Amino acid sequence: MNNFTYSSASDINSALKLFSESPGRNATRFLAGGTNLIDLMREGIEQPQSLVDITRLPLAEVQQLPDGGVRIGAMVRNSHLAAHALIREKYPLLSQAILIGASAQLRNMATTGGNLMQRTRCYYFYDGAAACNKRAPGSGCDALEGSNRIHAILGATRKCVATHPSDMCVALAALDASVNVTGPSGERRVPFTDFHRLPGDTPEIDTNLAHGELITSIDLPAASSGLASTYRKIRDRASYAFALVSVAAALRAEGGRTRDVRLALGGVAHKPWRASVAEEFLKDKAPTPDNFSRAAAAELAQAVPLRHNAFKVELAKRTIALALSALVTDAPTANGGGAQ
Ligand code: SF4
Repeated sequence: MNNFTYSSASDINSALKLFSESPGRNATRFLAGGTNLIDLMREGIEQPQSLVDITRLPLAEVQQLPDGGVRIGAMVRNSHLAAHALIREKYPLLSQAILIGASAQLRNMATTGGNLMQRTRCYYFYDGAAACNKRAPGSGCDALEGSNRIHAILGATRKCVATHPSDMCVALAALDASVNVTGPSGERRVPFTDFHRLPGDTPEIDTNLAHGELITSIDLPAASSGLASTYRKIRDRASYAFALVSVAAALRAEGGRTRDVRLALGGVAHKPWRASVAEEFLKDKAPTPDNFSRAAAAELAQAVPLRHNAFKVELAKRTIALALSALVTDAPTANGGGAQ
């Protein structure tokens, strides 16, 4: 691990000031739960010159908003969020995704803001001897011709085929969340689906967060009544592992028609993938297994699999169809689906 300076902020203004004044400004990181950043530093993958500890910032509340929505402070721990009565009652999809995402020990440390900032688990990104455009821009991508079973099938480029590792973020994408950030240019709100990036030609940049900006909270819009939801995660082993494919699904059907549907996929792209083609296909259609399968096929028509991950295309199609079917029959799902 390289040498770095450490400072601790007590409020948002002091965090921004410490960040802007720290030595090696371009290599400064905010430190929250540290569950990913510290691992990356130990391996020498991240080599910040300065860390600004933000764990004391007063951003650890889950609050009801006047418009019926909910604001989640960036420092709310994942365990607290998953267990919070407001989240369990109104957004069970989010609670479910968090609980299936990591062990209790990790959930106790990991924060809401930090979950958004975690980096890919591509093997080559963590291997300092491998070519990796995300870690060392311009060096190449060893995953293209290497072992790419866990990699992306949607939205990737020849520069990078990594996937985003978060389960929580897949649920937030489906729930139409937004991210509140503050920084040198003031405060702004970013729709969740615009927060993370596809790799394009610059896979080293994971998000649309500007340098020095800090996530302060996540807002969830008021929960729609009658929207049933579930989170399905397919992984290599039953204990905690990253998703090969995951599906956050929410649906409201009335009068034999689909009135509201939200779908987001994990484990398939560089960012949580909002399945807008499938959503559009299902609008006002009968909520039948056949239509769910056709919607999934329409979404996955744009998939470009690699040598070892073509199975993800079929897996994603089947998982989407099964998740939606479970919501219509209103049966409890294997992952514990419920009404939102
Ligand atoms: Fe690096 Fe992305 Fe290629 Fe993985 S897929 S080796 S993260 S460039």
